[in-house]
This record gives sequence, C-alpha cells and structure tokens, in this order.
Amino acid sequence: MGGFAGYPRTMARDLVLVGSGHSHAQVLESLALEPIPGFRATVIVDSPIAIYSGMVPGFVAGQYRVDELEIDIPALAERAGARVVVARATRIDPSHRQIVVANETPVPFDLASANIGSTVAGLDLPGIRDFALPTRPIANLVHLLQQRITELEKGDDRSTYRVVVVGGGAGGVELAFTLQARLSRETDRPLLVQLVHSGKRLMTGYPSGLARRIYRNAARRGIRIEPERRVVGADEGIVRFQTGGPLAFDTLLWVVGAASYSLFRDSGLPTDSSGFVRTRSTLQVEGEDDLFAVGDCATLDEFPETPKAGVYAVRQGPVLMRNLRARAAGNALESYRPQSDFLTLLNLGDGNALGAKWGRSFEGRWVMWLKDRIDRSFMRRFQVSVR
Ligand SMILES: Cc1cc2nc3c(=O)[nH]c(=O)nc-3n(C[C@H](O)[C@H](O)[C@H](O)COP(=O)(O)OP(=O)(O)OC[C@H]3O[C@@H](n4cnc5c(N)ncnc54)[C@H](O)[C@@H]3O)c2cc1C
Repeated sequence: MGGFAGYPRTMARDLVLVGSGHSHAQVLESLALEPIPGFRATVIVDSPIAIYSGMVPGFVAGQYRVDELEIDIPALAERAGARVVVARATRIDPSHRQIVVANETPVPFDLASANIGSTVAGLDLPGIRDFALPTRPIANLVHLLQQRITELEKGDDRSTYRVVVVGGGAGGVELAFTLQARLSRETDRPLLVQLVHSGKRLMTGYPSGLARRIYRNAARRGIRIEPERRVVGADEGIVRFQTGGPLAFDTLLWVVGAASYSLFRDSGLPTDSSGFVRTRSTLQVEGEDDLFAVGDCATLDEFPETPKAGVYAVRQGPVLMRNLRARAAGNALESYRPQSDFLTLLNLGDGNALGAKWGRSFEGRWVMWLKDRIDRSFMRRFQVSVR
C-alpha cells in the first residue's frame, strides 16, 4: 500500500499543490480545518488570484464586480498554513520528486497534485493570437473585456459595433448573450452579435430542448447564430471560414474547446492524445502513486469522455482531499466516479437564465436566481479576505 505512515513524526513531508483550480481551493479549505499530520503544504500558482469562471458571464453582463469572481490564493493558503510560490510550474519531475518552476528554485515534494486547468484550442490558427480575445487565461479575458466595454461606453463612434463569438458550447453561448445584454444596455451604438460554431447544432451533448431555447432567445435579442462555420484564421477586423464568406468584427471572442498545457508532455508523464495527463479512478496519475491530477488538466482512463467543465473539478475536490489524507496515512484510496448528468445553467445577461438537467430544459428569472445562489454560496467558502 505504501504511504508515509512509517516516517518518523519529526520529519515534515511536503505536500505540493500545483495550480489553484476548483479542487485545490477545496483542499486548502480543508487543510485550514484539519492539517495532514506530518505534512507541510505549498501551493504553486502562476497568479495569486484565481478566477471563478462560472461567474465570468455575469461579470460581463455587469451583474458582478470583478472582486466577486476572485479567490485570493495567498489569503486562503495562509488560513491553511500553506506556503505560496507565485511562479508558473514548467515541469513535474517525479523521479527527483520536485516541481520545476519558472525563475525559482525547484519545489520538492513527497505528495503532489496538479489542478492547472486548461487553455483554449485553436490559438495557433493564423491571426487568432493577434486579433481574438481568448477565454484563457480567464483573468486576462476579464481584464480585456472590461477595457473594451469601458472604451465603447466612452467613445462617440456611432457605427454598428460588431461582435463575433466563436464557439457553440456553454461558454460561447453565455458570452454572446451576456455581452449583447451589457452592450445594448450601456451604449447607444447599433450592435451586431454573431455566434458562430463549427458543428451542425449548438451545445452538442446537451438536451435538444436547451438548444431550441437558445435559438428562440437569440432571435428575440437579435443575436445571429451560424452553424458549420469553421474558422481558418483572422486578420485585423476580419475572421475567415472554411465555408462561407468572412465576417467583419470589432471584437472577436475565442471560446472553442479546451486544450492541454504542455506541462505534462514536457514532464514525460502519461498523457492522452491531446496532452491531458492520464489518471486512475483514485485521481492518481497513471504509474505515479504520489502524484494526483484533477479538473480540466486530467483525463480519467475509465471515463475519458468526461467533459472539461468546472463542475467535475468541484466534485473531485473532496475525493482528492480524502485520497491525499489516505495516501499520507498509508490507507486505501477511494474511487471517483463522474456523475452522468449535471445541472447546466446558462446566464442570458438580462436577469434570465436557461437550464437543463436529466434531459429536460427550463428557463426564467428563477433559473438565474438559482444560478446566482449556487455560484455565490460556492464562492463564499473561499473569499476569506476583502481586499
Ligand atoms: C466563460 C466561461 C464560462 C464557464 N462557465 C462554466 C460553468 O458555468 N460551469 C462549468 O462547469 N464550467 C464552466 N466553464 C469551464 C470551466 O472554466 C473549466 O472547466 C474550469 O475552470 C476548470 O477548472 P479547474 O479546477 O480544472 O482549473 P481552473 O479553474 O482553470 O484553475 C487552474 C488554475 O491553475 C493556474 N495555473 C495554470 N497553469 C499553471 C502553472 N503551470 N503553474 C501554476 N499555476 C497554474 C491558473 O492560473 C488557474 O488559477 C466555463 C469556461 C469559460 C471560459
């Protein structure tokens, strides 16, 4: 079984948390209540502030202030008695039991976990990095969108402001609706919001009733939706597609699927074909008993189709915590099984939201009330300081 139960009590072992996603926030919360005996914790983060993506559309709509989406990792770590290293982890080296970080000395570990999230696919297409606003890193998106909205509110140009949102998943839909709601409320400029995606229909994998509600609500608000529009590249103000003519834009939002950071491939760890690290149902990395990985950055060998969505990272948090404790004590680990269905809630930006669960869909102000309640109560657990 292994573990650390046999180590002398006087020798502190190192638990290192790489990244500060939804699962690690819960680990820090738990460590604050009950440290792991004999272990000192370190958290390595590329930014001291983590952003809760579930509330980003609400921020775009003007419903939340930026500080309401932020988790202050050093404050959370302090409560947990954990050291914070603010640096990008560039390699995990299990054979030397260390995490290599940019511009800092490597951080040794006895037990480690990665929860670094994902980046956006397609950034290497010509012009996308230069002319599109990608949704990752999400902190940059929040900052850049705020800048655009402020410029637009102040400007005196009266021509139509054109927004093109690329991506037919939940993020693309929410950002198209919430940006439309915000801009139509706060500027007098005529507005054209277009949501384009490469599939035949929006939100594949979700109930068809939800897609119908999206089309109906989009038509009501003048949001144009175009399917089967695969982007091949962008120039300043113009985005081009495999089929159909180009579209002109003032803001191009890039909300296509998740892609892995290169960290795991660079570390020589086992990955799936997309570079996400492969994990067992215990959340341990394949072949590495003292290294765990959770959230978007990992693919479960037994459930490779699990969507890259925050809800899974949230549910993995308590299992990860129990398994870290079990591994530290030399006890048996439990298995995580992803839920087959989850409650989807899409903020439309005007006080209404759409939802789906168990094959059914619904909408209304009560759905937005529910989403707000769930998101705020999740965030309340981690907002330990008001800056
Ligand atoms: C606009 C938008 C809305 C969304 N809404 C929802 C929603 O309502 N519900 C839902 O389930 N999903 C939603 N998603 C998807 C969701 O954002 C991701 O699935 C989720 O954030 C993944 O969580 P995570 O815990 O794996 O990592 P993240 O929340 O991405 O956290 C990873 C953290 O690690 C840090 N990090 C990254 N690399 C390194 C490194 N090398 N070294 C150190 N630190 C690092 C990052 O800065 C970040 O703070 C949305 C996505 C977008 C873009």
